[in-house]
Amino acid sequence: MSSQHNWHELSQEKALSVLEAAPTGLSANEALARLDMHGPNRLPPPPKRSLLRRFLIHFHNILIYVLLGAALITGLLAHWVDMSVILAVVIVNAIIGLLQEGKAEKAMDAIRQMLAPRAAVLRDGQRHTVAGEQLVPGDIVLLEAGDKVPADLRLLKAHGLHIQEAILTGESVAVEKQTRPVASAAALGDRTCLAFSGTTVTSGQGSGVVVATGAVTEIGRISGLLAEVKTLTTPLVEQMAVFARWLTLFILAIAVLIFAYGYLVQHHDVTELFMAVVGLSVAAIPEGLPAVLTITQAVGVQAMARRNAIVRRLPAIETLGAVSVICTDKTGTLTRNEMSVVSVVMDGQCYTIEDTGYEPRGEIKVSGRAISVPEHPSLTELGRVAALCNDTELKGHQDTWTVEGDPMEGALLALSGKAGISGDDERRLWTRTDVIPFDARHKFMATLHHDHENHAFIAIKGAPEQIITMCRAQRSAVGGMAPLNEGDWRQQADKIAAEGQRVLALAVVPVPPEHTVLEQCDLAGSLILLGLVGFIDPPRPEAMAAVAQCQAAGIRVKMITGDHAATAMAIAGQIGLQNCASVLTGAELDQLDDAALGEAVMNTDVFARTSPEHKLRLVMAMQAHGVTVAMTGDGVNDTPALKRAEVGIAMGMKGSEAAKEAAELVLADDNFASIVAAVREGRTVYDNIKKVISWTLPTNAGEASTIMVALMLGMALPITPIQILWVNMITAVSLGIALAFEPTEENTMHRPPRPRDQPLLTGTLVWHIVLVAALFLGGVFGIYAYALEQAYSQELARTMVMNTLVVMEIFHLFFIRNMYGTSVTWQAIRGTKAIWWAVLVVTAGQFAVTYLPPLQSVFATQAIPLPDGMLILGTGMALFAVIEIEKQIRIRLFQSGRF
Ligand code: ATP
Repeated sequence: MSSQHNWHELSQEKALSVLEAAPTGLSANEALARLDMHGPNRLPPPPKRSLLRRFLIHFHNILIYVLLGAALITGLLAHWVDMSVILAVVIVNAIIGLLQEGKAEKAMDAIRQMLAPRAAVLRDGQRHTVAGEQLVPGDIVLLEAGDKVPADLRLLKAHGLHIQEAILTGESVAVEKQTRPVASAAALGDRTCLAFSGTTVTSGQGSGVVVATGAVTEIGRISGLLAEVKTLTTPLVEQMAVFARWLTLFILAIAVLIFAYGYLVQHHDVTELFMAVVGLSVAAIPEGLPAVLTITQAVGVQAMARRNAIVRRLPAIETLGAVSVICTDKTGTLTRNEMSVVSVVMDGQCYTIEDTGYEPRGEIKVSGRAISVPEHPSLTELGRVAALCNDTELKGHQDTWTVEGDPMEGALLALSGKAGISGDDERRLWTRTDVIPFDARHKFMATLHHDHENHAFIAIKGAPEQIITMCRAQRSAVGGMAPLNEGDWRQQADKIAAEGQRVLALAVVPVPPEHTVLEQCDLAGSLILLGLVGFIDPPRPEAMAAVAQCQAAGIRVKMITGDHAATAMAIAGQIGLQNCASVLTGAELDQLDDAALGEAVMNTDVFARTSPEHKLRLVMAMQAHGVTVAMTGDGVNDTPALKRAEVGIAMGMKGSEAAKEAAELVLADDNFASIVAAVREGRTVYDNIKKVISWTLPTNAGEASTIMVALMLGMALPITPIQILWVNMITAVSLGIALAFEPTEENTMHRPPRPRDQPLLTGTLVWHIVLVAALFLGGVFGIYAYALEQAYSQELARTMVMNTLVVMEIFHLFFIRNMYGTSVTWQAIRGTKAIWWAVLVVTAGQFAVTYLPPLQSVFATQAIPLPDGMLILGTGMALFAVIEIEKQIRIRLFQSGRF
């Protein structure tokens, strides 16, 4: 029972019998037994890099090469202690990188798990949604547009089913599938009665029996293809890596120059000079930066996942922070997608339906009075169409009813129950012979049914405008036919929609029993309109709050929906969108040329009755204005717009696999509020990256210039190479990393989005680097001069300088934590756990090298007396005061404190 068969040459019956399966699906027990036998339906994971390789990869970096070179030469010069400290810096850095990367990878794996595909199957004759991994040979899988085929299938039904098989055949045009066997010699691409695991359904509907799962599927056999390596990198991090490389070369050049100058002009001792130059290089090289930036990203990805926003492509984290327009669907994103039919208009009557959720029981009233359904035969007919032109099932457990499938169709099934119809009985009586699945472009769905007594009819439901134009008559109150009153129906539809209800029209047409294939041309001009149905779908309260947040954050929210204009306007009003009084429909958009569209798109916030193609045009028109667009989508036809938008966002629950694959971000809960949470996190990550850089570069510049100035002036070094190595090591692995965990600043969602092309090294940041480096120099030489004046020993003076450097770094860190506001608030001083851990580690380290005799002899340090310790602390505070005052002046003058 597996892949030895040529499934494509077997008839459906034969395939089913070989697999010992039935068209109604396996039983739950049988499925379990088969799962035991065949194992889960997943491909073996790609081989993991070994721990050693993962560790060594952290040394593959030009910054580290320079440090390793320095260690080698210090070793050759027999400066063992210095060599060990340099190596310790490198190794600690690699260990931290390895640990953090491991954590980040685990988080990414967990996130990938959240995106694990699901499949609709028939088991025990009932439709279920199961994890793709649970599929077994013999399962009956249902396919629809946008699905990823979850296993290799022998198709049993195919209605307009087209599948894109590029990953297997390289052919990008979708193949039309059918159910008849094909010749045994047919190539993979010609086996049209099979659907292969991993390929994508682009249109139509179908079902098939699973013939192979996991590694024995066609894709499983070439699974080498899937061993894609995802690295934790984004344009910004890459930009920084390039910057770091140039910086290293620059530092090396300076080091060579200083070496030459010291040797040729000042005639320093070569070994000593060399050690000083090594100290300078180590001080200047931001060796921890790449690791810290990666950690910052990983922290951001995890924070987003906690808020139900799953990042599929890392660059999205950065782009999210720059989003200035969010285009969102309505149904399910701004609203709950919990539908309930509350009104029906037919026979010239307006019926009110009791809202009982998906429970197929409840009262139907006319003018406030409950009616007896059997006295209204047209309601029964409407109920039948609602149940037959429908792919869902309701599941009742005690008093709670849930829907398996589209909530709107679930609500229709509940309506048919209230109209006295049993969906199951009706579906048994009226077999479905063919279907035209719903498509957002034509906005209707039709099914063809036959009973056992030679009757047949087509049931159809869809957007009222669409259905009304296809009708030739309407059902009269007594059950016959009456002339269609088009104007009246349109008015009724507008009236229901204006109350914020989604409206659907239902129609039928009897056909001769020999009619077994449903074509679109069977429908136009032949239908008999039954009535209109109005659904409520309440707005999500959290979406309203999120829209308000967007407005404060300078982000425009635009609703692009396939729904009726009046419904869209009503919901837009309830949600609090700006400009909800004007709406552009898809038909109106088609009339606009690109210039007119360019203007309209910026002034309109509600777009209704759009098809997915409109989304693409709208994104492009907005991008022409230079805005950064986030766009949501769920269907396979939304993929071009999702790919085109800077941030494509797919719905995790109701979205198709195709949309998820095209998107940068997937919302686990389909909720608009999660998009806004992701934008907030995106802004935070970008801020934190800037903070890391704004802290690291001035620190390195300050340390390096200290040595450089001393060498240039030909004076004794105020800090020895080994001490500078120590400072670098202890601060880079503690203070630097703490910034990656910084929480969101309070005003993050109260400022306009960052322009996307804003450079990383802004003028303000360069100025900050120069200022802080100068202050570091002042502090270091000030303390050094003071110590010498006190006639302290050279060792004590240097110990004081080393501690001053570290204290200034700590104060600088507290300053950097608030780039946009003031750093002297209780909140700012209280800091975070990460910050205080870092400070604790550094302080403990400093006390150890300063006061512990064994370390004193290694680092040539001496215990600092208490008053001098206070002086050092005072120097740090002075630095803090100067840069904070400078920031406040900058904020007041330029309205911006950030770098
Ligand atoms: P949004 O784009 O905000 O999610 P939407 O769900 O209304 O809104 P579409 O799914 O494109 O957008 O639906 C457009 C219209 O097509 C609906 O307003 C409805 O009238 C009709 N429609 C939706 N689903 C079905 C269906 N399963 N069968 C028939 N008609 C449908």
